[in-house]
Amino acid sequence: YAKHSSTVMVQCYEMGMDERRLRKQKLALALQGAIEQDQLVLYYQPIYELEGGAIESVEALLRWHSSEHGVIHPLEIIAVAEHHGLAHKLNEWVLLTASRQLSDWHQAGFSGLKVNVNISPSIFMDGELASTVHNVLRATALSASSLVLEITEDTSLWDTKGSIATLEQLRKLGVEIALDDFGTGYSSFSHLRQLPLNKLKIDKSFVADMTTDPKALSLVKTIIALAASLEMKVTAEGVELKEQQLQLQQLGCELGQGYLLAKPMAAIDMTAELQSTCA
Ligand code: C2E
Ligand code: MG
Ligand code: MG
Ligand code: MG
Repeated sequence: YAKHSSTVMVQCYEMGMDERRLRKQKLALALQGAIEQDQLVLYYQPIYELEGGAIESVEALLRWHSSEHGVIHPLEIIAVAEHHGLAHKLNEWVLLTASRQLSDWHQAGFSGLKVNVNISPSIFMDGELASTVHNVLRATALSASSLVLEITEDTSLWDTKGSIATLEQLRKLGVEIALDDFGTGYSSFSHLRQLPLNKLKIDKSFVADMTTDPKALSLVKTIIALAASLEMKVTAEGVELKEQQLQLQQLGCELGQGYLLAKPMAAIDMTAELQSTCA
């Protein structure tokens, strides 16, 4: 009896595992199809110069509405891709799609515009990022300086020499590197010194609290000063209130991004935004 019931329990447990695994596998299969059939979409969110209101760059943000699974959050897309060996392919698709779109915008006359592309930490490990970027730049005839790669603070990224070598290769190519969600990860001052970074993005949690929490405000001020002293440009993420925008501007924060200024939008809407901003 005891033996029998434990067998049943094991079977139930395994069924749960199987179901979850099956869902993940279905999602991965659907994602693979979506990459190959161009069913993924990039949205773009402008990054503005707070002084003057010009658009400096647009951040490419992944969107996937699967007919079978519904809307999948970008971080889940990335997680599925990483667990099923699709990260490299997905990254290549994002880089190429964003670069083609930027090239179209350049040809439409928005010649100084840059595009920011998010790169997940695992992509730094495979050692192919620099050559992928090089190929994409060649295929789209973009100059390297119009591409900004956003990386997040992640211990596994900082701790490998290979990642630093990749960043050095990218810098040699001439692409810019931005440290995303700054202040929420594990970076230390020595990392800031070691890594070839051009930009810092203040995490939106600090911006959200800066008008009500003196400590958050203090940290925002410190990050802005730090960026200035290291000759990095600084972007505030998640600007939702006029009050935040004005305060950031007063503090000397150069760039801002957030729902107050513009939400992420389809490429066609971004074109209209560029036309109205640059007119
Ligand atoms: P992230 O790179 O920090 O991107 C900023 C996120 O904040 C985006 O969420 C954006 O829609 C959102 N956001 C912008 N303005 C505001 C605001 O005023 N308030 C608030 N609350 N949120 C704002 P999204 O598009 O859902 O992307 C989430 C994360 O997924 C990104 O965070 C990034 O880490 C990752 N991600 C998105 N697309 C890609 C991609 O193509 N590749 C990789 N590796 N990761 C991506
Ligand atoms: Mg980002
Ligand atoms: Mg961010
Ligand atoms: Mg984030």
